[in-house]
Amino acid sequence: MTPKAILLFLILLGSVIYLVRREIKNRIRLKQELLTEKVNREHDVKLNNEKLRFFTNISHELRTPLTLILGPVKQLLEDNAQQVTTYQKSRYELIHNNANRLFSLVNQVLDFRKAQSGELKLKTMETDILAYSKNIFDSYKELANNKNIELSFITENEDIHGWIDNDKFDKILYNLLSNALKFTPDFGNVELYLRYNEKTGKLNIEVSDNGIGISKKSQKKIFNRFYQATSTKQNNTGSGIGLSLVQSLVELHKGNIEVKSNLDKGSIFMVELPIERRFYEDDEVFELSLPKHSKNEELKDAPKKIIQDTGLKQKILVIDDNAELRKYLVDYLSGFYKVYEAENGYQALTLCRQIRPTLCVSDVMMPVMNGLEFCEKLKNDQFISHIPVVLLTALSDNKDKVKGYGTGADGYLIKPFDPSLLKLMIENIIKTRLDLKAKFAAETESEVSLLTHSPVDKSLMLKVTELINSNLDKSDLSTSFLCQELGMSSSKLYQKIKELTDLAPTEFIRTVRLKKSASLLKTKKYNVSEVTNLIGFNDPLYFSRCFKKQFGYPPSKLLK
Ligand code: ADP
Repeated sequence: MTPKAILLFLILLGSVIYLVRREIKNRIRLKQELLTEKVNREHDVKLNNEKLRFFTNISHELRTPLTLILGPVKQLLEDNAQQVTTYQKSRYELIHNNANRLFSLVNQVLDFRKAQSGELKLKTMETDILAYSKNIFDSYKELANNKNIELSFITENEDIHGWIDNDKFDKILYNLLSNALKFTPDFGNVELYLRYNEKTGKLNIEVSDNGIGISKKSQKKIFNRFYQATSTKQNNTGSGIGLSLVQSLVELHKGNIEVKSNLDKGSIFMVELPIERRFYEDDEVFELSLPKHSKNEELKDAPKKIIQDTGLKQKILVIDDNAELRKYLVDYLSGFYKVYEAENGYQALTLCRQIRPTLCVSDVMMPVMNGLEFCEKLKNDQFISHIPVVLLTALSDNKDKVKGYGTGADGYLIKPFDPSLLKLMIENIIKTRLDLKAKFAAETESEVSLLTHSPVDKSLMLKVTELINSNLDKSDLSTSFLCQELGMSSSKLYQKIKELTDLAPTEFIRTVRLKKSASLLKTKKYNVSEVTNLIGFNDPLYFSRCFKKQFGYPPSKLLK
């Protein structure tokens, strides 16, 4: 109890209180920091989600106008190839390339969101992987050139064929290559290496660069969404979703991805993807064998002949409920024709009446209205009954085949089929019809039934020819008389006769008259001027001229 001891106790007590207070304060501060951190984090996540939602919405909005830029530019590039100057063409190409780039960026954002919410589905198909990768690789040549980066494509295999989801594969390579080019300074090297491992049945892809590299700490995070390594933040204009998307895509494709990198030395991204059929479930495989030659070659030998023959581009309508197959066919056929699409028979019928396509390609199994029903309805609608239909079906059953033809289908392909076979079939049908029309007009003997491909058309044309034949001697036999007798409007009659015979109604009437004259002359019972009167021509000289123009020889030749 000495004053000294009391002082000591007080000092001790004071320091204890001080220490405790400090500790408590510290803890409170820490707790508060933690809380702010948490709030910030939640805020970040929320912000990111909002960002993503915003991007997604915007991207959706951007897609339609972009499609509408891309389509016309593509048309400009294709259509006027001869008249356009090189300068104009280079401008078109610039628009096309950049619109394309914008389009893929927009799609990337959409894909990213889909990948995050697990909406992406795998659809693999047999692909010439080497050629496909080379194509993607080639599209980077220009960018590499601009940065003076040496870009190399290396592979140990001469040929790699396997099952990949082309779309996903494309995006994986696309992202890895564009990162490698982005993070490699001028005069660097970027390599794409491919190897098929026969033992594992997997494809090894490596994209390597000798660029800025990634620190060990960042390597763990680069696959996180919105992450961008700090060292690169200053000059990196990206969004931090590329690698996150790549990882989701690789995982969806049952593969894995790894990164090896040293700061300032460079990075290697290694992807392993299974490419044998056995790795994928039936519903993950799209059974469609691709044409063996590359798409470019296909485009080169496009049936320009047909397009020239008719002077206008043929319209083809593709009808399938499977969006992927439809898109695939539309893409493929767009290289040769003007292609329209419909999801089911019902939509297709409406569209047919509007655009009157040259030919329809239709799946059989479809909701709302199936292909057989569609074909039957089409063939019974006088307005569109002339349109040929090619049916696509998975049923190889003979009975169904007959059923298909029973409805008046003009062609029949069993899935899976080679799209070039479909093209060939379309080409043949169109060509046969053109040939028949030419034959009908140029030969004295051929019957009009040659030109009709459905019962509706047949009976109409029979009626028309009968009407013409029984009124031949009337020189005022006209289109309006036919319209009256048939109860059809003149525009409808015009369209119908034009479509079936490639002749305007007046030309058709004349053709029938001239054919009749030929058969009369062949009987050798009448001379030229008698025949002239019989078929309703006024002037034998004029008749002879028309006859010669039509069949290539004068009428008198038939009398010899
Ligand atoms: P973004 O490229 O849009 O920033 P990514 O997800 O593609 O987003 O990449 C995330 C981060 O990973 C990049 O910001 C960059 O820091 C780093 N990175 C990716 N690829 C490479 C590379 N080849 N070299 C160096 N850093 C890279």
